[in-house]
Amino acid sequence: MTGEAPQTVEDDIRRRIEADGPMPFEAYMAACLGAEEAGYYQTRDPFGEAGDFVTAPEISGMFGEMCGLYLAHMYELSGKPADAVVAELGPGRGTLMRDMRHAWSALMPELAAAPVHLVETSPVLRSIQNGTIGESAPVTWHADTDELVAGIEGPLFGIANEFFDALPAAQLVWRNGSWHRRMVGLVDDRIGFVDGGAATDDPALPDAPQDGMVAELCPQADLVMAALARSVSARGGAMLVIDYGRDGNPGDSVQAVAAHKPVDLFHEPGQADLSHWVDFAALRRAAETQGARLIGPVAQGRFLMRIGLAMRAEQAGAHAGPEERRALLAAIDRLTSPAQMGEVFKVALLVPAGTGRPPGFETEEPR
Ligand code: SAH
Repeated sequence: MTGEAPQTVEDDIRRRIEADGPMPFEAYMAACLGAEEAGYYQTRDPFGEAGDFVTAPEISGMFGEMCGLYLAHMYELSGKPADAVVAELGPGRGTLMRDMRHAWSALMPELAAAPVHLVETSPVLRSIQNGTIGESAPVTWHADTDELVAGIEGPLFGIANEFFDALPAAQLVWRNGSWHRRMVGLVDDRIGFVDGGAATDDPALPDAPQDGMVAELCPQADLVMAALARSVSARGGAMLVIDYGRDGNPGDSVQAVAAHKPVDLFHEPGQADLSHWVDFAALRRAAETQGARLIGPVAQGRFLMRIGLAMRAEQAGAHAGPEERRALLAAIDRLTSPAQMGEVFKVALLVPAGTGRPPGFETEEPR
């Protein structure tokens, strides 16, 4: 880079476009979320009612407990390997890992004693995670999944909740018989979409597109999944992947959210959360290239009910007052009802190749 350091993500993006011309949309998204010093996740704690969005672990501790019990079951099925490693991608405030470890400390002390590896780029969130779990567990942070996988030797038991949706997505538009990359340039001096050159075909792109149709690819998500799958395939383990998405190309799904409201993708770059729907079919193909299996996806509501969330709430509510019981029911509704997070959010499980249907995935078609 030449000249003085840009002050904001927007300055940086303008300078880059003025110097080099339009940039691919995925480069724009990466700059908004991850730019050093000014990027969205680098500078803030975005979670909760006072922030920009609320995630499942921040709604209720039961979410993390159920995920923890699930991974404990997978760990037991694997024969309780003594060298197991616990991992989380994109841990946010560390709430999910704290709640999983809480469940393990009562029921699976071996996992509570395992080293914890976190993949996190944001210095602000690393420091919050350290406050949430750093005192009770030996934590190692990694900048990316390749580093995580290179830094461990045992089987990997872990989770990624709302991580893949934050990895930069490429957008493509179908024009005159071929896919074109969507670029970000200056239109009348405003940052916006411009068409780019023709893109090569990809098995994740939809068949029989119509003129103007938009599709998305997330090459970085495929690489992350391949790295995890390589590890699980070679050394065993189980990883839960939870995110909003579909079992196929999500189309035009990238959205910007600030203070719980949708905003324009190009409004104050770096100040809004950008995310996209996850293509679970693409992740499954990436897992299979490494000889692993990605089972699912199944809707989050169905998954949580199948693995016993309602029973857990009943237990928790048995000695509670009416106010607390109401709060438990409200949390279950938010996590499981199709009108809220129950249907749009999906759960998939990465395991070594083999047969059988783990709990929660029983009626899904074997692939
Ligand atoms: N799992 C948490 C947070 C989800 S938000 C929860 O459910 O509450 C996304 C998380 O991924 C944040 O911690 C963010 O800093 C991290 N993140 C986003 N992009 C990343 C990247 N490219 N590499 C590593 N971490 C990333």
